[in-house]
Amino acid sequence: HAKEQGKDQFKFFEQSANEMMVKKIELQYEIRRGIRDREFVLYYQPQIDFLTGLICGVEALVRWQHPTRGLLPPFEFIELAEESGLIVPLGEQILTEACRQSVIWENAGYKDLTMAVNFSAKQINKKDIVEVVFGILRKTGMRPELLDIEITESIAMENLENTLSIIKKIKNKGVKFSLDDFGTGYSSLNYLHKLPIDHLKIDKQFVQNMRPGSFEEVVIKATIEIAHSMNLVVVAEGVETKEQFEAILAYNGDRAQGYLFSKPVPAKELETLLNNDLKPIEGS
Ligand code: C2E
Ligand code: MG
Ligand code: MG
Ligand code: MG
Repeated sequence: HAKEQGKDQFKFFEQSANEMMVKKIELQYEIRRGIRDREFVLYYQPQIDFLTGLICGVEALVRWQHPTRGLLPPFEFIELAEESGLIVPLGEQILTEACRQSVIWENAGYKDLTMAVNFSAKQINKKDIVEVVFGILRKTGMRPELLDIEITESIAMENLENTLSIIKKIKNKGVKFSLDDFGTGYSSLNYLHKLPIDHLKIDKQFVQNMRPGSFEEVVIKATIEIAHSMNLVVVAEGVETKEQFEAILAYNGDRAQGYLFSKPVPAKELETLLNNDLKPIEGS
């Protein structure tokens, strides 16, 4: 009897594994169609400078305006886009749109806003990535110094030598780099000094679990000190409360990003936030 049951379970497992594969293939097909039909849109989340209290930059975060399923967050599609390699054409669309938006804001007088764009491993390891980035900068006319490419520790470690040489080439044009989600990956201080990055983003897990006297608090304080000794700008992710903001200010953090200020919003709404904050410079 037990054997029969085992068989049934196996059958059930096999069937659901099959269903999952069909779902994946369908989703992959849809992502491809979505790229073709330009259904992916960017939302922007402000980064606040601790010194001035003003918006100094934004992070572009992709959403999928799906024709029947509504607005989908990255966790619904980004992993499969990476797995299937579709992140490469999607990433080019995202970078183009972010650069285009940066030029619009610059021309509208919202000066010197940095534009952070997330890159995945597949993108950074693509042979022609340097030409692609330079081509998009040229085509859109974006100021390279305002572009801030976010990579994660795992991306950097996957192929360290290659990543290093690519970052160096792209940085020659003045583009900045951020190390995203710091604290969640390898977090080895051994290689941190090898990476020619400009900003270090402390992962929101650390910010959100920080309590007086906690391990997270110690890590954040030490990370900020080490980062500053390497001339890195420290961005705290996931700042949701005034207490978190004030604690990181006290530890000398440089920038904060989180729901305390704003969730990621469409470009027009970001302009409303900018208008309440820093007025566009006249006549520019
Ligand atoms: P990430 O790059 O670490 O982006 C930060 C994530 O934290 C965003 O989630 C943002 O909405 C969320 N967040 C910001 N502040 C808070 C807060 O105060 N509380 C909480 N709970 N969350 C906060 P989102 O937009 O869902 O993006 C998730 C991840 O998807 C990103 O993490 C990034 O790894 C990936 N992603 C997003 N856009 C792109 C893209 O254009 N290209 C690539 N390759 N990956 C992307
Ligand atoms: Mg990011
Ligand atoms: Mg992050
Ligand atoms: Mg992330």
